[in-house]
Amino acid sequence: MDTGEITGALTREECAALDAVDPLAAFRKEFALPDGVIYLDGNSLGALPVRTPERVRRVVEEEWGRDLIRSWNDAGWFEQPYALGRRIAPLVGAGADEVAVCDTTSVNLFKVLSAALRLRPGRGTVLGDAEAFPTDLYIAEGVTGLVEGARSVLIRPEDLDAHLDGDVAAVVLSHVDYRTGELLDMPGITARVRAAGALMIWDVCHSVGALPVELGAVGADFAIGCTYKYLNGGPGSPAFLYVAERHLAAGPLQPLSGWFGHARPFAFEPGYDPKEGIGRFLCSSPSLLGQAALESSLDVWERADLAAVRAKSLALTDLFIALVEGLDGIEVVTPREHARRGSQVALRFSDGYPVVQALIARGVIGDFRAPDLMRFGFTPLYLSHVDVWDAAQQLAEVLESGEWRQERFSRRGEVT
Ligand SMILES: *Cc1c(COP(=O)(O)O)cnc(C)c1O
Repeated sequence: MDTGEITGALTREECAALDAVDPLAAFRKEFALPDGVIYLDGNSLGALPVRTPERVRRVVEEEWGRDLIRSWNDAGWFEQPYALGRRIAPLVGAGADEVAVCDTTSVNLFKVLSAALRLRPGRGTVLGDAEAFPTDLYIAEGVTGLVEGARSVLIRPEDLDAHLDGDVAAVVLSHVDYRTGELLDMPGITARVRAAGALMIWDVCHSVGALPVELGAVGADFAIGCTYKYLNGGPGSPAFLYVAERHLAAGPLQPLSGWFGHARPFAFEPGYDPKEGIGRFLCSSPSLLGQAALESSLDVWERADLAAVRAKSLALTDLFIALVEGLDGIEVVTPREHARRGSQVALRFSDGYPVVQALIARGVIGDFRAPDLMRFGFTPLYLSHVDVWDAAQQLAEVLESGEWRQERFSRRGEVT
């Protein structure tokens, strides 16, 4: 490949023809991406919706600066965790009152996993994926460490059935693997876990906004997810949690019994009396500025057809895989089967870190996960087929030229 030209797959012209008939193409102008950047890291931090700065400005200058404390009632601040939850619900196949926006993913896992253990007295095992995003495992360790007789056991999802014995209280799995992009069989796994008498907790951080998620239809018990990845809520935007209605009626308690989960927070009573419904899973004052940014990005999501998002996501990842799979030294780690693929492509390359840095210097932003995976996220609302073709071309050139060997590309920051 002297010229770095990619052969096979589609031509750039064919990609342009697909873009011309792309039903989601109009969404691109709703995002403020810098010129010359192809952003393939929306699975880590989604892009900025163009209307978000104005929405955040309004909350800061008007609701806070001008209206001050009156905004708790007048601007609906107090209701925000529920209002936003009702808007996330259709993105995860949940009922309107089964989702609340609050806290972070890790904190929400702490809450729902604690509630799950309380719903299964006499059972002490929590199963998690040894390869999961580690914060989920750290929290499982933390929760089980607080409960007499409980323990966290790490397995691989393919070995699940062998571990589903009568002591399993809950199973925590990621719908899409953050490293490989593998999509798990949510309906099948949920059914097997529940048949074993255990509760199923899904982490949908890497699937919400990337593909249709059907928590209610599959019978999931709990779920958690973040909003700063595919949902474009902004850095540190609040996370959400889902609790199936049957558990809300039964009223499991979670241990972070802060005043926002109290039935009458402004009665300032000394004893804790949990709210009815999803509200008992709240803990503290909502982070209103982060929620304002999320509200603005949900305005965009409200108009996006998830089936079209999924179809385009698969087309873009198919295209990228076809374009890069012949490149020297590259191994495609992401499953080829659509039913097992999320919305990212992971490529194994021994010197992945400097290659990703060299790509970023060329304006193609992906990321790297130790020890050797280059990750590229595909966000159908703001990426075109031509973007994908150009990104693959840049990768081919970086590898072909060997420019990634320059010393400056091997220096590591705190965050990879
Ligand atoms: C991104 C991500 C998180 C983030 O956790 P925070 O507590 O919100 O920082 C957790 N779990 C998974 C699987 C993730 O991908």
